[in-house]
Amino acid sequence: MLSRAKRREYIKAGGSFCINCGSGNISAGKIESEGRGAWQSVQCYDCGSEWNDIFRLISVDDIILPEDDPMIPVVFGNKESGDGQTETA
Ligand SMILES: [Zn+2]
Repeated sequence: MLSRAKRREYIKAGGSFCINCGSGNISAGKIESEGRGAWQSVQCYDCGSEWNDIFRLISVDDIILPEDDPMIPVVFGNKESGDGQTETA
């Protein structure tokens, strides 16, 4: 297993070297995503290690909102508030 410190060092450096041997002779595959997560397989040509870089949603940028059709804010992910359904009679 890889030490935490080594992982942290790797992440801090933006994953620009081999997480095992430190070589820059690495190659990353294309980024795949599913749901809220994304990952990218990386391999080192020098020592043969393979691993996945994991990506998370940390921010949003370059947001373009429609000018004519402002959305009313909706609270997402609160379906089971236990309050029962508020049906408009
Ligand atoms: Zn390596």
